[in-house]
Amino acid sequence: MDREQFRAAAHSAIDDIVDYFDTVPERRVLPAVDPGYLRPLIPENPPADPEEWSQIQEDVDTKIKPGLTHWQSPNFMAYYPASVTYPSILGEMYSAAFTAPAFNWLCSPACTEMETIVMDWVAKALALPECFLSTSENRGGGVIQNSASDAIATIIVAARERRVRELVLAKGLKEATPEYENCKMEVQPRLVAIASDQTHSSAAKGALIAGTRFRSVTARLEDNMEMTGPRLREVLEQCDKDGLVPYHLSLTMGTTNTCSVDRFADIKAVLQEKPEWQRIWVHVDAAYAGAALVADEWQYIAKDFAEGVDSFNMNMHKWLLVNFDASVLYVRNRFDLTNALDITPTYLRNPYSDMGTVIDYRNWSISLGRRFRALKIWFVMRSYGLNGMKAHIRKGIDLGNLFTELVRSRSDLFEIVTKTSFCLTVLRVKNPQSPSNGANGSSDGVSLCKPDEVADGLTKKVYELINSRGEIFITSTIVDGVYVIRVVSSNPLAEE
Ligand code: PLP
Repeated sequence: MDREQFRAAAHSAIDDIVDYFDTVPERRVLPAVDPGYLRPLIPENPPADPEEWSQIQEDVDTKIKPGLTHWQSPNFMAYYPASVTYPSILGEMYSAAFTAPAFNWLCSPACTEMETIVMDWVAKALALPECFLSTSENRGGGVIQNSASDAIATIIVAARERRVRELVLAKGLKEATPEYENCKMEVQPRLVAIASDQTHSSAAKGALIAGTRFRSVTARLEDNMEMTGPRLREVLEQCDKDGLVPYHLSLTMGTTNTCSVDRFADIKAVLQEKPEWQRIWVHVDAAYAGAALVADEWQYIAKDFAEGVDSFNMNMHKWLLVNFDASVLYVRNRFDLTNALDITPTYLRNPYSDMGTVIDYRNWSISLGRRFRALKIWFVMRSYGLNGMKAHIRKGIDLGNLFTELVRSRSDLFEIVTKTSFCLTVLRVKNPQSPSNGANGSSDGVSLCKPDEVADGLTKKVYELINSRGEIFITSTIVDGVYVIRVVSSNPLAEE
């Protein structure tokens, strides 16, 4: 493809993409294809001779689009949304054109410096405490990761290294000696990462990757599925009894099941009770709901992160208008990351890195090469402005509340199972034989639901019927033994 062919092909692709967005509301959200549908449609071997772009593009239309689940459809109300906007697509185009895998500052100073600037912009937009800014005295800062799972695995490894180092140094051993290394290996099997049973599975996976144990704190419907201080204390005390060392705690702002928010203040108070518990690395996973922090009325939540929180992550690609992937991770102390991850062979050395005056993001993440993702975040923030971003969040919140009101107005049929939180409504179909399963009188109209086979069966039937029609896509889950339907109203194209 030469420059003129590229120009024509790109114009045609852009036209097709715009048409796709225009028509996506009319498309069936779930594809009507069976597993294996694609193989018979694609030649067994790659073409020997070049093909025309028009042929390739036609195949996107006839072979790919019919097999897509349309995440951008306003009828996609499953999981959490994956947002995309025109400015973020433009950012991807430039990033692809530059393809500069800037692992060190020298590899492309604009990529590194734009990432640092944009991460500070995002931190300010979310009203994160000063300690997470790159300009903070405590040397905090942010880095863009592929996904929340990558971010979480990365900080769990950093947390392990920090705690092991503290424990070994406390024994009076000198670093980089055989005794130090041996002691590290003795200490590590006692380490435990802790999260609630509502925490995303990436926390357990992070502990697995870090080669440590994992224990979970039970969450209950009576606590709105939030992690509470007393339930955490029970797990910490059990670890003490078992001779284990908790080193990482994952808290969530917006769990995947019900979008519950863990009780940060109570939990931090519990961690103050013992000196060893104060050494636990506290992480806040706000992968989805963290986006709401751009709106002033939610920023009070971020005040809880000013003290006692070591790191925070949020996926702009879920609800904040940037396409996948744009997962932002902030740490209070960048040296916690770089001490764990900086391995510098001669071929990566250069005078700027050696002087220590520049950021080399390869030491803030697992991968070496990295995409220029800051560009699309910069484009989106400039194209929308903070006011546009706030309006987007508020629209979703209003729709979620409206949907919940509609469900509640049919309390003869449905029960709201947990408090509606950041556009997620969690409901079940009532057991008609069980009138006692009504609202518990709380102002938010939440029923204190108990496991109930009839309600489970009816809810599952309704859920399967809706998805089988393919017009609307929703997901279901089980919380505290209760089968529920989740409906998410934060899709950017969703309308009343
Ligand atoms: N954390 C929470 C709360 C999530 O809801 C999810 C995914 O939905 C993740 C982490 C994992 O996100 P990712 O796909 O970016 O790894």
